[in-house]
Amino acid sequence: MCGIVGYIGTQTAAPLIVSGLKRLEYRGYDSAGVCVLSKDGLRIEKRAGRVKDLESIVDIPSIAGNVGVGHTRWATHGVPNDANAHPHTDQDGNIALVHNGIIENYLTIKKKLESAGYTFRSDTDSEVLAVFIGMLYKTLGNLEAAVRTALAEVEGTFGIVVLSVHEPDMIIAARRGSPLILGIGDGEYLVASDASAVIAHTRQVVYLQENEMAILTRSGFSTKTIENVDTRSVVEEIAFELEQIERGGFDHFMLKEIYEQPITFRDGFRGRLNAEEGSVRLGGLAPVADKLRQAKRIIITACGTSWHAGLVGEYLIEQLARIPVEVEYASEFRYRNPIINQDDVVIAISQSGETADTLAAIREAKLKGATVIGMVNVVGSTIARETDAGVYLHAGPEIGVASTKAFTSQLCVLTQFALFLGRMKAVSAQQGKELADALEQIPEQITRILDNVEPIKAIAHEYAQVSNFLYLGRGYNFPAALEGALKLKEISYIHAEGYPAAEMKHGPIALIDENMPVVFIAPKDEIYDKIISNIEEVRARNGRVIAIADDDDEHIPRVANHVIHVPRTIPMLTPILASIPLQLLAYYIALERGCNVDMPRNLAKSVTVE
Ligand code: GLU
Repeated sequence: MCGIVGYIGTQTAAPLIVSGLKRLEYRGYDSAGVCVLSKDGLRIEKRAGRVKDLESIVDIPSIAGNVGVGHTRWATHGVPNDANAHPHTDQDGNIALVHNGIIENYLTIKKKLESAGYTFRSDTDSEVLAVFIGMLYKTLGNLEAAVRTALAEVEGTFGIVVLSVHEPDMIIAARRGSPLILGIGDGEYLVASDASAVIAHTRQVVYLQENEMAILTRSGFSTKTIENVDTRSVVEEIAFELEQIERGGFDHFMLKEIYEQPITFRDGFRGRLNAEEGSVRLGGLAPVADKLRQAKRIIITACGTSWHAGLVGEYLIEQLARIPVEVEYASEFRYRNPIINQDDVVIAISQSGETADTLAAIREAKLKGATVIGMVNVVGSTIARETDAGVYLHAGPEIGVASTKAFTSQLCVLTQFALFLGRMKAVSAQQGKELADALEQIPEQITRILDNVEPIKAIAHEYAQVSNFLYLGRGYNFPAALEGALKLKEISYIHAEGYPAAEMKHGPIALIDENMPVVFIAPKDEIYDKIISNIEEVRARNGRVIAIADDDDEHIPRVANHVIHVPRTIPMLTPILASIPLQLLAYYIALERGCNVDMPRNLAKSVTVE
C-alpha cells in the first residue's frame, strides 16, 4: 500500500515523480502529494484524491528543482483530506517526509513533542515522525543522525523518504516492514515502493533490505543498517518490461489481466511440467526437497484471494500427496502462537510478496523451526527473499487491485506443487500424466471462455442492481465460490457471500427469495447430483440460479435460470476454469454500476500494513 517515489539527479524532479506516482497509484489513491527542493525552500503540493486531481490544480512541469519526493496515500490514521496527505514536514517546514506503514507508538511520541511545545497540522502518525526528526535535527545538526535516532524510537512499520533544505544534495530512505527499492541511473537515483515507478528510467535496482537505510546523492548511494553498520547492496535487473504495466488498449487493467490468463497460466507451467513423465520440475524447491519428502504436515498461510487459492491447495495436496494440510489466515496465524514443529512445511502465498501479515506469519514459522516456502509473483520481493525456497507464479505484473491472473497462476503452481509431492509418494506416472495433460489444455480452454463473454454480459446487465449475491460450490469449487463472491464485493460493492453448497440449508437458505441470485459452480464431478439437488432447493424457494456448468451439460439448463458453459476438465482443475466467468461477471456488473474497477473504494494493492 501507498506509493513512494523519490528522485535526485539533473532532471526536473516534479513531472518525473508524478509520472512515477501514476504507475504506483494501484497501491493507494486517497491522496497525492509532491515536494521539491527549490532555492526558496521546500515546495509542497498535495491534495486529497487521485494524482490527476493534483495535476488539475498544480502545473507540475513548472515546479523547478531536481530533488524531490512524492506519495500516494492509503489512509491508516486520519481521513483522506488535504492536510493528511503526504509529504509532511517538521515544525519549521524545512524537512519533508513521506511514509508507508504505521508508526504504532505515534501517540507516545506525539505527547512528548506536544509537551515540548510542538503542534501538528494533520491527524497522521507520519507527521509525528517528521516533527520528531525536525526536533532531533536541532540538537544533532545532521539529517542522517536525526533520522536514525528517530527510527530507533519508532515501533511499527515504515518505508520513508526524507529530504531537507539543510542538506539539499541528498535524500534519505529507510525501511522496516514496508518495501523500498533504489533505482540506479547515470548521475541520477530514484527510490520507490516498487519497480514499476522506476522502470521508465532505469532497469538497475537495489532492493533495500529490512532495517536498512540508503543515502542517495547525485554521485552515488550508500546503504547501511538503521543502527549505522555499512551494508553491501546487490544491483539487480528489473524482471519485467514497461509494456507489461500499461493497459495496452484495454479499458481497465483488470480486464487486460483477465485476458492475459491463457498466457500467464501457460507461463506458470512452462519448463516445469513434463507431460511425458507425468512429473514436475520445480527448481526453486531443490534446497528443501528432503524436508518436503519428510513433511508431516503442511500449513498454508495467506490473505484474501491468495487464501482462497490456498484452500484449493489444501484439497490438491491432500488428494495427491496424502499429507495433512491446514490453511490459515496469516493475520490470525501470527498472533495465536500456533503449534509449529520442525518437520512442518509452511507455504506463504502472496501476489506481491510484501503482504505484511503473511510476512509476519513466515517470520513466526521460521522462528519456530519450520521450513518456509514462498509462492509469490513479484520477483525479488521480501517474501521471496526471506523464505527457504520458493516457486514464482510468473504471472507478470498485476496492477488491477482485484486479483485475477495471480489467482489462476497460484492454482497452476499449487497443482504442480501437489503433483510434485504426489509423485514422491503414491501418484503413478500414468496418473501424473493425466493431470499434466489436463493442465496443458487449460490455456486453450480459458481462451474459449474469453471468446464468448456475451452471455456473461447479459447476466451482468440483468442483476447489476441487486443488493445481495450468494455463491455456492462444493469440494474444489467451494474456494472458487468464496473467490467469486470476493471479486464481486471488491469491485461492485454488492454484498456477496460464498458458501459450501450443502451448508446453505444450515443458514443462508433463509435469505433465498425471488430477489436473490445464487451462483452455483456445478461441473460434472462426483458430487454433481448433490449440487443439482441444492439448485432445486433454491429454485423451490424462487431463488434465481446462475449456473456455471460443463459445455456438454444438457440437464442443467432445465433447472437453472442462466447457464454459463465452460469447457470440461478433470475435477481438480475445475476451479481454474470456473474462476474466469466469475471474474468477468464481477467485472461487467461493476461496469454496469459505474464503479471504478481498477481503483475500488477503500482497497489497494500490496497490503503492506497490518
Ligand atoms: N500511516 C500513514 C497515513 O495514514 C501512511 C499510510 C500509507 O502507507 O499510505 O498517512
